Amino acid sequence: MATLEIHDLHVSVEAENGPREILKGVDLTIKQGETHAVMGPNGSGKSTLAYSLAGHPKYTITGGTVTLDGEDVLEMSVDERARAGVFLAMQYPVEVPGVSVSNFLRTSATAVRGEAPKLRTWVKEVKSAMEQLQMDPAFAERNVNEGFSGGEKKRHEILQLELLKPKIAILDETDSGLDVDALRVVSEGVNRVRGTGEVGTLLITHYTRILRYIKPDFVHVFANGRIAESGGAELADVLENEGYDKYVKGGA
Ligand code: ADP
Ligand code: MG
Ligand code: MG
Repeated sequence: MATLEIHDLHVSVEAENGPREILKGVDLTIKQGETHAVMGPNGSGKSTLAYSLAGHPKYTITGGTVTLDGEDVLEMSVDERARAGVFLAMQYPVEVPGVSVSNFLRTSATAVRGEAPKLRTWVKEVKSAMEQLQMDPAFAERNVNEGFSGGEKKRHEILQLELLKPKIAILDETDSGLDVDALRVVSEGVNRVRGTGEVGTLLITHYTRILRYIKPDFVHVFANGRIAESGGAELADVLENEGYDKYVKGGA
């Protein structure tokens, strides 16, 4: 069983007036098969955590360790992390002009699997995954994220998740901006992947709404750049009622 271990992670970004520490000692362990919800107010550093794990060059690791089955993730390039089984669904997916969804998915799958998927089975795989996510087949020929609606972007992220079958999936606010129908479709996709028992999921969210569809095994409250409290699914209900005030007022 794959295990991602984050220990005392400190991360800075280059701000106008010099480096600014955003993550201030994050500790978190995610095992394959587990679903962890990381919940916190805007600006608490949730996306910074997601990007740091995926290897975004904008974020400087100033302390701590991240390992996947004992292997140093922080030493790996973005590509190596993806091949090792770390997947990030971005809060704000980026456009890739001139690259169709179909080519993008096949290139990604080839990179992650280490060989090109066999064309016949691949076409079927993509078709069936798109159907389940209620995506129009014509979508495959559009350029990645170009002119996509919020819901289409998130479905496309989950389509990647379903096809790439990572060991650790980091889903950054996959629920934001979705109407109820899209939220249900996207959640079902996450639950299908989860149902295999082969993925550890880090579900980053601001709202408890998605947790009605995806039941987390663990809930972590993220505030001021670190995990302020951890518990079971019931912690989400407390947050639903009480909000994040008590954690934020604790001070940065
Ligand atoms: P969240 O995802 O929880 O809303 P973020 O990780 O996006 O939080 O941001 C955490 C904090 O770091 C915010 O105050 C944000 O303005 C700041 N931040 C993130 N990226 C940068 C950057 N590139 N330059 C300066 N500040 C940044
Ligand atoms: Mg935010
Ligand atoms: Mg964010």
